[in-house]
Amino acid sequence: MIETLQRIVQEVNAADSLAQALDIIVQRVKQSLSVDVCSVYLVTPGQQELVLMATEGLRPESKYKVRLKFSEGLVGLVAERAETINLEHAQDHPRFKYIPETGESAYHAFLGIPIIHHRELLGVLVAQQCDARRFDDDHSAFLFTLAAQLASAISHAEVTGEIHSLRGKHHRDVFIKGVSGSNGIAFGTAFVIYSDADIDTVPDREPENIDDEIQRFEKAIDAAQSELLDLKKRLGATLPSEEVMLFDAFMMLLGSDALLDRTIEHIREGNWAPGALRMSIRESTHVFEEMEDAYIRERADDIRDLGNRVLMHLQQTGNGGMRAIPDSAVLIGHKITVTELAEIPPGKLAAVVSESGSSSSHVAILARAMGVPAVMGATDLPVGRLDGSEVLVDGYTGRVYIQPSAQVKSEFQRLASEEAELSEELKSMAFKEAITPDGVHVPVYVNGGLMADVDASENSGSEGIGLYRTEFPFMVRERFPGEEEQYQIYRKILMAVAPRPVTLRTLDVGGDKALSYFPVNEENPFLGWRGIRITLDHPEIFLTQLRAMLRASVGLNNLKILLPMITSTSEVEESLELVQRAWYELLDEDVNAIIPDVGVMVEVPSAVYMIEEIARRVDFISVGTNDLIQYLLAVDRNNARVAGMYHAMHPAVLRALIHVIDGTHRVGKQVSICGEMAGDPAAVILLLGMGIDSLSVSLAGIPRVKWVIHSFSRDHARGLLEQSLKLEDPEAIRALLNASLVEAGLGGLVRAGKH
Ligand code: PEP
Ligand code: MG
Repeated sequence: MIETLQRIVQEVNAADSLAQALDIIVQRVKQSLSVDVCSVYLVTPGQQELVLMATEGLRPESKYKVRLKFSEGLVGLVAERAETINLEHAQDHPRFKYIPETGESAYHAFLGIPIIHHRELLGVLVAQQCDARRFDDDHSAFLFTLAAQLASAISHAEVTGEIHSLRGKHHRDVFIKGVSGSNGIAFGTAFVIYSDADIDTVPDREPENIDDEIQRFEKAIDAAQSELLDLKKRLGATLPSEEVMLFDAFMMLLGSDALLDRTIEHIREGNWAPGALRMSIRESTHVFEEMEDAYIRERADDIRDLGNRVLMHLQQTGNGGMRAIPDSAVLIGHKITVTELAEIPPGKLAAVVSESGSSSSHVAILARAMGVPAVMGATDLPVGRLDGSEVLVDGYTGRVYIQPSAQVKSEFQRLASEEAELSEELKSMAFKEAITPDGVHVPVYVNGGLMADVDASENSGSEGIGLYRTEFPFMVRERFPGEEEQYQIYRKILMAVAPRPVTLRTLDVGGDKALSYFPVNEENPFLGWRGIRITLDHPEIFLTQLRAMLRASVGLNNLKILLPMITSTSEVEESLELVQRAWYELLDEDVNAIIPDVGVMVEVPSAVYMIEEIARRVDFISVGTNDLIQYLLAVDRNNARVAGMYHAMHPAVLRALIHVIDGTHRVGKQVSICGEMAGDPAAVILLLGMGIDSLSVSLAGIPRVKWVIHSFSRDHARGLLEQSLKLEDPEAIRALLNASLVEAGLGGLVRAGKH
């Protein structure tokens, strides 16, 4: 049963349109459960009404005609209650409604299951049987599981279908919802990133010249065939002949009509060779995947493998791999990595849209640092179909509009100019001193990780770099940078910012930050080997970095070192010993370095409760709220499904921060916030109330944070903090603070609050 379920879901996922997806569902369910009728009704958006969209068993002409209010009939009752209804004699139920068009009077047994996606009712899946009997547990469990799995496929197909119909002149403005990753509005051309080695992720694209594209495809097939022939010859010497025959089968598949002719047909229909290949490979794999025999089904993997092989050759010929990046590129992908983002020239990058991830993913953080709007966790994004489309990205609300109408464009134009006006107003703030109305200086530093950030930070109005994520230069290389290479990077930064301070964080890889040349494959990477755990286990990596940092500061003395992911005092002590060791080593080599201030990041609940013991051992504390929130609330910072539960204003987060700030102050040290929360205007009010000493925020956040500092005295902020602490709901706390921003004349910042 599980296999049948999986196959249906896979087929639905591959459907080109909603109508096709629904037809597949009703056909397969009727067949697999041997029921007399299977139908799908979908909810009309904005109305409490269901429309019969697909059926096997009821009269085909009733499709699209039968419309039911939620208050009507048994199907309406399933929708109204959002619960399963299983009846032996449907006609005897008080809610039974006879609908003549369907011819359903003949059916007695009724099983209706709601289809729900992200708490929203999408439709109702119905099975009916002539006999008067209750559907048994197996039937209802099967349909129940299927409905749950189909929900996202249906919603995905709905969007895909809409996109297809966009070719017509009139369309409603479809948007795909994700979460805000970085504020701002951008309009540009979709530039889809796909995995080089995965045929399933290849997007559709119009070919420049159909004949050239066909030739390119034929050449790739020839190359793949001769490669297989070579392999066959090489293995023929060692393998039994039956095994070697497998290669003949592969070569035949490569030369088969199903693959050759179908791909060429798809190219002629207007898709480029890799996209056309993806389509025909998918068609061939479907045939195999439908087989009951497990051995034959596995052949689908062989075909996909062959597809990847041909794809690789296609990428080596023509301009398959290298594409021109459009001028206003909206970078779109299933999972965009920090490196992919960094590779787009900043002048060309208009926005980022990622199917996975959330506002605290590193890609979102980087986008904010670059001042580029980003939408994360857009799970219903039909990635493969978007390349080259016009898209409008609303980074405030996390919405992506595909081929937006002139009306939507002009509405967003208006918002964009309002935003530009606000930034003009804000620009003047950036260079004012960060002093509260009652005269408290709360320095604002900038977060960085790329040299571009450092250059930009010079004119940002910041008082230095509060967090430099050293892993970024490690991520864009193909091997660990050596001491000299690191020295050059750090020296440049320290020189550019001197005499202002620069806080360099030691390598924090693991979690969602992977180094291609140092793979850490774990089931649960955020609770695994990351940050300080890796560097303490690899003192040679740690010492190289520490030596490079200390050397870079010689004569400038503006370096501070920050240790990530600390969970216990022993990690602090071991790290401090290594800093001492690096310093002694340099001393021996006659390098006149000094021991810099060393600080600890509080990112883990255990560090919150050990704050005094930790703070006593170091020079300063910096709270990494991005991780702290994830670990306190048990909400993966990259998981779009739970992004709505990631609340910086959760009372537990606020209490933890108060504990850290008070504890650090008790032992006479200073504490700053360097997570994204520090750039959220509403949160800044609370942090001021808590007595924070400094803030480190992304470049774009500096003016608005300074505006808040200028507008709220410590007493005013303390009062609002006290009121907030009486509330239990994070949304209510945000509403209270937003109202106070508006009251203080900072209403323009309210939209910027969510990131
Ligand atoms: C944090 O966790 O808040 C932080 C600043 O570190 P990163 O986002 O790099 O994990
Ligand atoms: Mg962190």
